[in-house]
Amino acid sequence: MLIDIVSVFPEYFSVLDLSLLGKAQSKGLVEVRAHNLRDWTHDVHHSVDDTPVGGGAGMVMKPAVWAECLDELLGLEPVDMPQVDPTAELWDEPVVSDGAIDEATIDEGTAKGADDAARPDDAVVSESVSEPAPAAESAAPAADSDTVLIFPNPSAPLFTQRDATQLSHAGHLVFGCGRYEGYDARVPRYYKARGVDVREYSIGDYVLNGGEVAVSVMLEAITRLLPGFMGNPDSIVEESYTGSNALLEHLQYTRPTTWRGISVPEVLTSGDHGKVDRYRRDQALARTADIRPDLIEKLDCTALSKADRKT
Ligand code: SAM
Repeated sequence: MLIDIVSVFPEYFSVLDLSLLGKAQSKGLVEVRAHNLRDWTHDVHHSVDDTPVGGGAGMVMKPAVWAECLDELLGLEPVDMPQVDPTAELWDEPVVSDGAIDEATIDEGTAKGADDAARPDDAVVSESVSEPAPAAESAAPAADSDTVLIFPNPSAPLFTQRDATQLSHAGHLVFGCGRYEGYDARVPRYYKARGVDVREYSIGDYVLNGGEVAVSVMLEAITRLLPGFMGNPDSIVEESYTGSNALLEHLQYTRPTTWRGISVPEVLTSGDHGKVDRYRRDQALARTADIRPDLIEKLDCTALSKADRKT
């Protein structure tokens, strides 16, 4: 997997050489390239922002500099797209007004990566990385279908384990880190209309100074699902938010079984694997009901056992 990250603080990503992601890079599983957006500016101040149209506080990132950078990373020629609706929500379709795209095909992608190793959540992520939208009404060459362009944005749908699983099938991820009041909204809409699979994601209901932390979060969640990334692949199978009936995980303990006077639950030392599994499952169900009732509401009740239902 090739990962391009565009930021005005590319140094931020030097930490990605550490830990498991660093190892994955040396093993050749993933290549991470951090770019400075200012390298695509032409003025002496290398400015990437301008005042908001319509007035207001703060600065907005200029579309032209993003476009020069993204055209190069995505291998696209610059083409005008006057028919793009600048207000269309990215997750609605189409972003092109006046019927320039007749049929919405963007999210109807077929499961790709059939020759990839299955990820823990593949059973519930049927669509995988979607086929790109057709390039709208222009002779512009279509984008590479294996590429996904991602913008972190606090006013976007929440990034989940499901998205991480889906994106772990892509061959090329390009992340654009916003700063200031964010980037000009026409940028993601333009690339979507050019046939690129474009996503905006929030990592939580709070506002950060920039997209760098959000990209680091998404990157870690995605890359740890790549086959060969984890030393023990089983460690990503039974985790919180993972699987068809995603629950919060049960509590974990290690040795000694008594520490500072606190003993681990007795059943865990019984050696009875059936009882241990049942205890953990009950705890996962009870914790999820308590902490994240919204996840319980989403459970597929037909996939629950009789014992599950007692909990
Ligand atoms: N004016 C924007 C708003 O109120 O929605 C906030 C802009 S924020 C200061 C600058 C950049 O940080 C955003 O463009 C985005 O890339 C990133 N960012 C901030 N909070 C985020 C979050 N919760 N999730 C994802 N990205 C975030």
